[in-house]
Amino acid sequence: MNAEIISVGTELLMGQILNTNARYISGRLADLGINLYYHITVGDNHDRLKDSIKTGFSRSDILIFTGGLGPTEDDLTKETIADYFGLELIIYEDYKEKLIERMVSRGYQCTPNNFKQVMFPKDHCIILPNPNGSAPGCIIEMDGKAAIMMPGPPWEMEPMFEAQVVPYLEKRSNCRFYSRTLRIFGRGESQVEHDIQDIVDLQTNPTIAPYAKAAETTLRITARCGDEAEGEELILPVMDEICDRIGEYVYSSHGKEMHEVCAELLSKNQLKLAVAESCTGGMIASQLVSVPGSSEWFIEGAVTYAPEAKMCRLGVKAETLDKYTDVSAETAMEMAEGIRISSGADIGISTTGYAGPSGAPDQVGHVFIGVSHRDGVQAYEFHFKGSRERVRITATLNALNLLRKLILSKGMYKPHCYMI
Ligand code: AMP
Ligand code: MG
Repeated sequence: MNAEIISVGTELLMGQILNTNARYISGRLADLGINLYYHITVGDNHDRLKDSIKTGFSRSDILIFTGGLGPTEDDLTKETIADYFGLELIIYEDYKEKLIERMVSRGYQCTPNNFKQVMFPKDHCIILPNPNGSAPGCIIEMDGKAAIMMPGPPWEMEPMFEAQVVPYLEKRSNCRFYSRTLRIFGRGESQVEHDIQDIVDLQTNPTIAPYAKAAETTLRITARCGDEAEGEELILPVMDEICDRIGEYVYSSHGKEMHEVCAELLSKNQLKLAVAESCTGGMIASQLVSVPGSSEWFIEGAVTYAPEAKMCRLGVKAETLDKYTDVSAETAMEMAEGIRISSGADIGISTTGYAGPSGAPDQVGHVFIGVSHRDGVQAYEFHFKGSRERVRITATLNALNLLRKLILSKGMYKPHCYMI
């Protein structure tokens, strides 16, 4: 089964937005073992879109469209596909009612063009309800071909894809797929690939797909299987073999984010955390607080940017700043101690460094992370590379990783491997 992605929207061609939908769907099709050989990006133009459909179906069984399902004149994906198949669109009354209800509940009135969104072909059509927006998606099936249409906004498209399109694709390909994602920190993609190349080469089911994310590496292990239990059975021995080699770098075997892993560890161990951030400017706190239930273990985050704030809020000593500067191991340690003690937390984490690009150009990426707990305080020195944003993101991830390691190494909670 071959699929092809057609991303519709003039804004994509103008460089106004990044085509994250194509990236997302491509990654998931790879997981599902569905061949994808082409991406097409086309503007909001009937003739060119129709040409793309013809080209797509000349070489692929399934075309996956995103964008152009909205109410306005330039939204013409569904209309053009129906035209290609020679199908007429009619209003689906039940979806029209739901749309009116949705608009009224938000204080809007429906205008006639809104009803475009609830028009579909009478036959050959599966509707994909959209709990996150007003435009349902749909699948038109004819002559062994399928056109899958989803709305453009990623927060509408992704849940629709997972809940409705994945099961459809599984059914159509007569195959179920089950995958586990190992998340790896502290070892780059090429190193990881080198470490496990022989395992990757040997595997056909499950398959192993490494890919790099900001400052980390991910391994997606995907099995073709009858059901989830069989999938686990196929995946676990391969995962164990991988963890025998690089387990110390694996922080999650369920695809969890670093901050989610930290949240679970803090919660399980009933530990309270406070953070004092300088160069990360609240990123650590923001990530942790995004986890539901964080009030159980997160006490406080202080963004102490100026030296005065480090002194007043955290009790960093003037002599320390004078002697070692505000970007130093000593300052990081006093910050971590200061926030832990003043907040009454079990663990205090701090960051201080040069995010760049101005200020201290030759020191960009030089960062200290402090970790304080009742048994002592320590600072870790890093030299990160890249833009201001990248330095801050990498510092945040490293701070969270140090927090994770601290909890695991203190014997407060000991799974047999560094992962959840
Ligand atoms: P549309 O469904 O064409 O009205 O698109 C609505 C919005 O979805 C656009 O303004 C974009 O913000 C977003 N969007 C559309 N296509 C994509 C895409 N391929 N990747 C990411 N965002 C998209
Ligand atoms: Mg559009």
